[in-house]
Amino acid sequence: MTGQINYNTATVREDPTKRKLTVTITKVRRQTVVVPTSVLRGLCPVCNREVEMVTAAQAAEFLEVGDSSLQTLISAGEIHAVATVTGVLLLCKESLC
Ligand SMILES: [Zn+2]
Repeated sequence: MTGQINYNTATVREDPTKRKLTVTITKVRRQTVVVPTSVLRGLCPVCNREVEMVTAAQAAEFLEVGDSSLQTLISAGEIHAVATVTGVLLLCKESLC
């Protein structure tokens, strides 16, 4: 969800001696930035601690490599991988950096 709220206020001051009118307009704009909440966390067997996990597609996009290059990095142990019980391969985000 993304929300945006605009507040507009106006202040009018009148000086009776100078007959001068001052108008101050204040505009406040608040914008809500939404961060994805579906962050996967899991135990990386190499780092031996709970880390953020990403899918192979997310890792390939992050590293800007193709599937075969990603598979080579996983096979070489440069990227830490864990297979879930459903067969989905999750990769340790720490090892991508
Ligand atoms: Zn790791």
